[in-house]
Amino acid sequence: MKNIVLFGPPGAGKGTQAEIIKLKYDLFHISTGDVFRNNIKNNTELGLLAKGFMNKGELVPDEITIKMLSEVVEKNKHVNGFIFDGFPRTESQAIALEQLLLKFNTSISAMIALEVDDEILINRLLERGKGSGRADDSNREIIENRIKEYYAKTAILKTFYQRKNCYYGVDGIGAIEDITFRIIDVINKL
Ligand code: ADP
Repeated sequence: MKNIVLFGPPGAGKGTQAEIIKLKYDLFHISTGDVFRNNIKNNTELGLLAKGFMNKGELVPDEITIKMLSEVVEKNKHVNGFIFDGFPRTESQAIALEQLLLKFNTSISAMIALEVDDEILINRLLERGKGSGRADDSNREIIENRIKEYYAKTAILKTFYQRKNCYYGVDGIGAIEDITFRIIDVINKL
């Protein structure tokens, strides 16, 4: 089983690349952001819980996120492998993911990090906000808060996966297909 974590700050291109990579390697794509957004759209209890945090650009608390992610993984345990997009985002989530995958005798094969400068990120997200209507892409302050959350809580996961010898940094600037090739290059060497 190949399990990939696509990593990087908000706007790095995780979702775009995950959609392409999942088809190439027949992986099951889990985007925690998409799961939350679907729940908000359908007015579920989980959606109501998540909405306030997301709209402020804050992370949804670990307990809620881990429970949600675990349920999706448990439901799809017979797939070829997973591509995690937007998870883990804290050290507790990374530990929970490790324990969850261990139950299925598997683990993370690689964390592939898309590296993009902050100024480029802010502009990409403001651009995306114009078309997508995503509340958290609508203004600079919320976007800056998401990037702040990333540095405060998420960026340390680089060290977490480096210690496990499965961290791979990829230049996230350039044409979509060029970035895809860089990611494929990493996966093919696993
Ligand atoms: P982006 O990567 O552009 O920030 P996402 O769709 O991945 O977009 O995430 C949007 C929001 O959803 C985050 O700002 C956060 O509020 C919430 N979220 C997504 N994944 C997680 C997670 N693993 N832990 C906590 N909150 C999350």
